[in-house]
Amino acid sequence: MKNYLQKAYCFDGTVRIYAAITTEICQKAQQIHNLWPTSCAALGRCLTIAAIMSATYKSQEHLTIKVCGDGPIGQITIEATDGTVRGFVHNPGVYLSYNNGKLNVADAVGRNGYIEVIKDLYMRQPFSSTVELVSGEIAEDFTYYFAKSEQIPSAVGLGVLFDTESKVNAAGGFLVQVMPGCKEETITKLEKKLGQMPSCSSLIEQGYSAKDIIETITDGDYQLLEEKELKYECPCNKNRFRRGLISLGKDELLDILNTDKKASITCNFCGEKYEFTSDELHDMICELTNKKGNI
Ligand code: ZN
Repeated sequence: MKNYLQKAYCFDGTVRIYAAITTEICQKAQQIHNLWPTSCAALGRCLTIAAIMSATYKSQEHLTIKVCGDGPIGQITIEATDGTVRGFVHNPGVYLSYNNGKLNVADAVGRNGYIEVIKDLYMRQPFSSTVELVSGEIAEDFTYYFAKSEQIPSAVGLGVLFDTESKVNAAGGFLVQVMPGCKEETITKLEKKLGQMPSCSSLIEQGYSAKDIIETITDGDYQLLEEKELKYECPCNKNRFRRGLISLGKDELLDILNTDKKASITCNFCGEKYEFTSDELHDMICELTNKKGNI
């Protein structure tokens, strides 16, 4: 099933809802990084909210999100632009659950730490904002982020479900944002509805579409605006890593050439491996030397 997001205006345009199906994105992340369930749930929730957030901003805007908690997963890093996401966790091998069998994402991420969101439009200095973690459950943490950093009262739901073999079988989420002028009774109604609703991942597992989720939250009082495709994709290539190596400078490259005779780099986001031979390293050193004019 194609991954996508649906945007809607609800209650006479006073509430904005984004609902996303991200099952395939989370399956791809699990496959690339060999994620154990709790690491996968944490990364999947972050990938989902990043995909949704990238749809709320200008389409060229590049988002970098870091979730840095004090739990065993370590730092979670996500990048997103216009519905395309990629990400990784420091420790992919975490499997923590509560007594009832539910995955314990809060303790795996850690309850102390922060979320950093960097927005880059490539026109001026990137805008960066940091808020502390509230619970480590990710959805609550981003609810707090929207209230504190963007001053938008919001509700966030995020979920990743697994089959009996610990493979992702349903994932997605929603973002509900209250606009100025929203009636108090609408907010009360929404809060009640969100409190009673089953988790969005269990709805997706039952076959709910993004539109069905919006329908459930609003009891049918909505107007669909836009559908956007979401995907996990890494735009890395050998040339990018070549530029990265060159930026190390001549001395460092000479050192690599003399000790290892080659360089091998693995992309953190997609696992692709790039090899540079001694000839290629030599070329880079020549390039740097020629630039400075001191052959
Ligand atoms: Zn890559």
